[in-house]
Amino acid sequence: MTTARSRGLAGCHECGMVSRLPEAHGHYTCRRCGTALHFRKPNSLSRTWALLIASFILYVPANLLPITHTTSLGHTQSDTIMSGVLYFISHGDWPLALVIFTASVAVPFMKLVILTYLLISVQRGSTHRYRDRTRLYRITELVGRWSMVDVFVVTVLVALVQLGALANINAGWGAVYFGAVVVATMFAAESFDPRLIWEPLDNPHESAS
Ligand SMILES: [Zn+2]
Repeated sequence: MTTARSRGLAGCHECGMVSRLPEAHGHYTCRRCGTALHFRKPNSLSRTWALLIASFILYVPANLLPITHTTSLGHTQSDTIMSGVLYFISHGDWPLALVIFTASVAVPFMKLVILTYLLISVQRGSTHRYRDRTRLYRITELVGRWSMVDVFVVTVLVALVQLGALANINAGWGAVYFGAVVVATMFAAESFDPRLIWEPLDNPHESAS
């Protein structure tokens, strides 16, 4: 298979315009929008690994620390994401429980697993199912925006309950770590260059670095 790189062509990250770069290591900018052009994002693998490892570490306190502190009639209750999900299930509010579980436990974890799999397969110079792997990357990009739903749910809950006189909700440290996971995973997906997936197709005997 022929890649754009082997023909000296590179697409702009911002506007998508394809330009011809005369040399592999020169500095070039997009003629249309002025963004720096690269055949591949610089240091993509090491930057993505660093952000991904940070996301995995932040994922632990995000799930173990309380995400909300609810005070009602002088009694304070602290909830983690999972205890909140169980609370909504026990009150028959399973649609809300499902939204919170999907947006804050399942989706962020799936994203971390997919990015780890993509990084390992790229480092091994794998040519196996490159189309499906490119598709997986597109899914992580698309789904990332919805991770914000959870931070949004906590915000709405806090706002709703603050309006009532009987109960009082404050966001806990878990919410801070959760926000950090969302941001770190977004940057990890952003720094990964999907073009590395089809790199080995160009020169099958040279492994990606
Ligand atoms: Zn451009």
